[in-house]
Amino acid sequence: MKNKKIAIIGAGPAGLFCAHELLQNSVENTSITIFDKGKSIDERINNLPCSKGAPCNNCQPCNVLCGFGGSGMVNDGKLIFTSKFGGNLQDVFSEHDFNHFLNRIRDSYLKLCDSSNGWTHPANFDDWFDKAANCGFELLKASFFHLGSDRTVILLRRLYEQLKDKVQFRLNTSVVDLDYNHNKFSVTLEDSVEVFDYVIVAPGRFGNSWLNKTCISKYLSYDVSPLDIGLRLEFPAEITKSIASDLYEFKLKTTSKFGDTTRNFCFNDRGHVCIENNNGVVTTNGYSNSSYDSKYSNMAILVSINPKKPFKHANEYLYGIAKLANYLSGDCDIVGQKAIDFIIGKRSTELLHRDDLQISAFPGNFSMILPYRVYEAISEFLIKLERFLPGILSNDSVLYGTEIKTYSQRLQVGPGLQTKLSKLYIIGDGSGLTRGLVQASMSGLIVGEELGYSLNKEEN
Ligand SMILES: Cc1cc2nc3c(=O)[nH]c(=O)nc-3n(C[C@H](O)[C@H](O)[C@H](O)COP(=O)(O)OP(=O)(O)OC[C@H]3O[C@@H](n4cnc5c(N)ncnc54)[C@H](O)[C@@H]3O)c2cc1C
Repeated sequence: MKNKKIAIIGAGPAGLFCAHELLQNSVENTSITIFDKGKSIDERINNLPCSKGAPCNNCQPCNVLCGFGGSGMVNDGKLIFTSKFGGNLQDVFSEHDFNHFLNRIRDSYLKLCDSSNGWTHPANFDDWFDKAANCGFELLKASFFHLGSDRTVILLRRLYEQLKDKVQFRLNTSVVDLDYNHNKFSVTLEDSVEVFDYVIVAPGRFGNSWLNKTCISKYLSYDVSPLDIGLRLEFPAEITKSIASDLYEFKLKTTSKFGDTTRNFCFNDRGHVCIENNNGVVTTNGYSNSSYDSKYSNMAILVSINPKKPFKHANEYLYGIAKLANYLSGDCDIVGQKAIDFIIGKRSTELLHRDDLQISAFPGNFSMILPYRVYEAISEFLIKLERFLPGILSNDSVLYGTEIKTYSQRLQVGPGLQTKLSKLYIIGDGSGLTRGLVQASMSGLIVGEELGYSLNKEEN
């Protein structure tokens, strides 16, 4: 049988676990190439000034989001093994198949991490649940495995060691375009064109604009799912000490007066607020190390809004809002506002002066940036939160923003995540079907298994 060539675009968790699974299926006569526009692990770690408190220096591509490990590399490494959050793969697979793949990806992570030290199981959940209900929240339940940003890097190094001899890594290499002709794919790079039999597209949220201009405009269709817009709240870690020790990551949900769901997301106990640069649009995020080295904790507060037809430009809308914050904050890119000022709509004129502030933010007013319904929903959430966690609206609590999540373009896929173009697969957060490490990695594993199976069948 002729040699088959597989291209994977994106070396994030989705692309890496796809390659890992293809190799588990001992696919013979097959070459696997992974393209990523970003750098190697070491080059990324050595070029992250924003993680040390310096302003974003506009690395192109952003070292927080791009390169070996994808945006998964310098992140918090919170693994949530559930169908309740982290994506929508449960809508595409039967419950049985979803749980099968979920268990497989959990086993792969635990094996790579070589330790079961990191599980957090909720304690006193019923008490917290009742307290949350009294304050107008629904509290969701889940068990987490917390790698921490530092251990994520160790895991990725192990993954690299396992793949490096069998997979061709083409880092610092942007895929510019993709075309399908005569049953083959032409992958256009900056200085050449290469031909492949199968292409697995895994560009993450960062690759959304590229995806729109290339694959989507030519070959794919998508539906718009609700848009998540919000801010990141940072506060003294003492305030959430008790709930963090019982539940570790707590997830609260409520409905705003406009009927939008507002929730907290990505809680980082004694962690750091960080920034990400999406092709020049700077937004916030957060992470924590497993060594817990900050006096502050943080979490995102996100509002889900659902614009109706003919609305189509989900990502452009979100980036448009994020750009307003960038325009207003000058060289800082990020706006900060004390939470107590936010509630009364007053501009903050100064933020906290402390040694360990990890990002550079300009004191401002989010009423100049956020849509009214989003502003109001966050305000309502904060007032309820103060009842649930007294002190969280102290003088030391700051909102940073904006925080946007560009996973609302949900691509139409068939069984096994194959697109309507045979031999073209789409996985990870770029597909709009996943929105976290576990489901992104799981989507890669699924395609690796499916494709491995069909290649082996062809072989025999
Ligand atoms: C700071 C931070 C903290 C986070 N914390 C958590 C957490 O604790 N738990 C959790 O579950 N999730 C977390 N996430 C989200 C998680 O990282 C993502 O859901 C996950 O990485 C998505 O995986 P992916 O493979 O789909 O895409 P990505 O990880 O984004 O990887 C995509 C890769 O594709 C490359 N690429 C894009 N376009 C091209 C192109 N045209 N040519 C070549 N290469 C291209 C990019 O360079 C990138 O490396 C966090 C994210 C961030 C940024």
